[in-house]
Amino acid sequence: MDLRIFYSGVLSILALVLAVCGTKALRSRKRFAKTVGLLEFALLPPMIGNIIIIGSSVRLRSLIGYYIYFLGMDLVMFALVNFTNEYCRGIGDGQRKPTFVYIIIIADAVQMLLNPFFGHAFSLEPVDVQDKPYYRVVVHFGQNIHRLVDYIVFICVLLIFILGVIKTTKIFRERFTVVLVAMMIIGLWQSFYIFSRTPIDRSMVGYGIFGIIVFYLSLYHRPLRLLDRLLSNIVSEMPDALFVYDPLGRCIWANEKGLQLAHVKVTELEKVPEALRGIFGNRKYIIDEWEDERVIGFGEEAKYFFIENHSVNDDNKRFVGSYLVIRDTTEEQQKLKKEFYASTHDSLTGLYTKQYLYECIRKLLGSDPDTEFYAVFVDVKNFKIVNDVFSSDFGDRALIQIAEWIEKNMSLSCVYGRLAGDTFGVFLPKDRFEKDKDSVEKKLSDFVVTSDSFEHRLLIHLGIYEVIDRDMDVSVMFDRAHLALSTITDEYTTHIAYYDNDLREKMLWDQRISAALTLAIRTRQIRPYLQPITDNRGRVVGAEALARWQHPDYGFMPSVKFIPVFEKNGMIVELDRYMWRCACEILRDWKGKHDDLFVSVNISPKDFYFFDVASEIKELVREFDIDPSKLRIEITETVMMNDSEERMRILDELRQSGFVVEMDDFGSGYSSLNMLKDMPVDVLKIDMKFLSSSKSRERAKTIVKNIIKLSEELDIDSLTEGVETQYQYQQLSAMGCKMFQGYYFAKPMPIEDFVSFAVKKNS
Ligand code: C2E
Ligand code: CA
Ligand code: CA
Repeated sequence: MDLRIFYSGVLSILALVLAVCGTKALRSRKRFAKTVGLLEFALLPPMIGNIIIIGSSVRLRSLIGYYIYFLGMDLVMFALVNFTNEYCRGIGDGQRKPTFVYIIIIADAVQMLLNPFFGHAFSLEPVDVQDKPYYRVVVHFGQNIHRLVDYIVFICVLLIFILGVIKTTKIFRERFTVVLVAMMIIGLWQSFYIFSRTPIDRSMVGYGIFGIIVFYLSLYHRPLRLLDRLLSNIVSEMPDALFVYDPLGRCIWANEKGLQLAHVKVTELEKVPEALRGIFGNRKYIIDEWEDERVIGFGEEAKYFFIENHSVNDDNKRFVGSYLVIRDTTEEQQKLKKEFYASTHDSLTGLYTKQYLYECIRKLLGSDPDTEFYAVFVDVKNFKIVNDVFSSDFGDRALIQIAEWIEKNMSLSCVYGRLAGDTFGVFLPKDRFEKDKDSVEKKLSDFVVTSDSFEHRLLIHLGIYEVIDRDMDVSVMFDRAHLALSTITDEYTTHIAYYDNDLREKMLWDQRISAALTLAIRTRQIRPYLQPITDNRGRVVGAEALARWQHPDYGFMPSVKFIPVFEKNGMIVELDRYMWRCACEILRDWKGKHDDLFVSVNISPKDFYFFDVASEIKELVREFDIDPSKLRIEITETVMMNDSEERMRILDELRQSGFVVEMDDFGSGYSSLNMLKDMPVDVLKIDMKFLSSSKSRERAKTIVKNIIKLSEELDIDSLTEGVETQYQYQQLSAMGCKMFQGYYFAKPMPIEDFVSFAVKKNS
């Protein structure tokens, strides 16, 4: 076959391929794409030049071929430098544009172009190749320069690539090595033709192949083998067990963790599916995407696993295998459990927290619709004192022992927890509680907390709310159970109290009258009734103002119906201010007519919390322009329980301003005598309870007699209230009591009635 035609053909095919590569590269958006495209197209002129040279037997045509070839080589060098500059970016320090090299290459091209005029570069001589003339180059000075330039550029590019091979990381070394080897081969190949002067230069084939390699490496090649290695390293070191299956469900690979988990050796992968079934139970471990959680073992020993299966399909959506990931989540689960425990359990007693208890109760109510339940509020009386007197350590111990007792007495159908500091909540079936009620009551009456050195009896009360409306807020159920406790009057004998209809009615009542108070005052539904106070000669000296309420719906109400409610919720303050004002009005109206009568008003201990009692009353007296000594002030000893110094100051101030201060209900409290020691009062109102008790009448008499004597010595007037019989009156008179108040003389009555009563008595 004609060698010249053959090579022309090969080169033409290569040129075509390069043209295609170049076009693709120029269209691509990838990195290097433009420089690669330029290189591909730059390779075309020398190749075409060569095809012309090989095919030509005519001097002129050959000459044109040579020009295209030589100038094309300059273009190739230009493109090669440009490509190298991009491809090897990052190797060596800094990046300079190789402008100087470009200038040299361009200068060389110019010098070659001048050859037709000066003939300094090359000329042609014909030789015979396969019986046809072939024009070979005769080299002159200019051509040597051209070669020198091309060689220098080429060698520089080679050096840069060598540097690339040395400096780059393993994954990318391949990229540089392939280009480098290809360049070396074509360099040698071409040199062979240049120096051997063998006609028909075939090294252009090498350039063509080089162009294709560069195209592939820079735009399409990925270092897959290395990537494979890298990925398999990553999964080997993964903390999860990984198993890879072929489409038939045979295990074909497992990482180290996987082998450990399945207890198989690398050589026994076929045993993996069976081994996993043994551990995690039956499950098709191949196809489908699925995930699952498994617990192996029980209690403390339990191990938790999270299993995921993924199937893998090829581009045509054909199933090619699957992989299974098994993660040991034991630690995570234990941590979660611990966190959950901490957030739902009280740290001291280990019982449920309030929030979690409520949540559990809601669930219980939902899951057990047939059982009747009790919400039980467990309250430790005077717990603050326990803490204060015996140290908070002992207090903690007490709470723990109560919690233990609750726990011990509960069954599965009960839930319980700590509601707040010294209160617990228990939710349990009604039957169960009623059955054990007596033994519980007994235990409560004798609940003893022990520590290493001593014992202390605790007073524990249970308030019980029977759950009727199951949709009610759980907190309201316990509020009601708590309210039940307020009905316990004798706290040492009664320990269990129920929230029942009476209590409910009472709560409703309290609510209603509280809501009605403001209007009642404004419309004067509430008025003072006056109860006469007499001296030992039977003359009326004054009256106590007591509140009475004429309610449009509920009728006439004595103060027991509403005063205790307002005492509790603080509204007494509003009422008292109003009553004082009324008393002042009365005294103003009496001015000039009944100047010898006084009116005494009650002051609740609550009043002292809300405003300055002394200045309030002084202001009133000023406003109504009355004699302060006509307004008497009744306080009870409980006033002195808190902040006693300040209270004493207020009483002093009142007395200094001319008011008469009376100590009400003397003897009914616990420390009346003690109080008397410091309390600045003018009158003692002795409680009638001393006289009403029938059993120890003699003793009571003795006490009253001595109180009266004592008051005389202290220069305090005595007033006995609750005198109901003539006998009582005579006895008290004989003991030296100065003033009297009671049904024996008169009940509290409207103002006008009182005035007529007094006028009649005193005339
Ligand atoms: P208190 O201050 O000890 O008032 C005396 C209470 O004993 C009055 O009851 C009166 O009606 C009643 N009483 C008088 N003589 C006899 C008697 O011979 N036998 C019996 N069994 N009872 C007698 P009342 O009016 O129901 O008042 C009860 C309590 O309510 C008062 O006790 C007082 O502490 C309080 N209270 C009444 N009105 C007011 C008020 O306007 N403000 C304040 N803060 N408390 C008031
Ligand atoms: Ca009173
Ligand atoms: Ca009283």
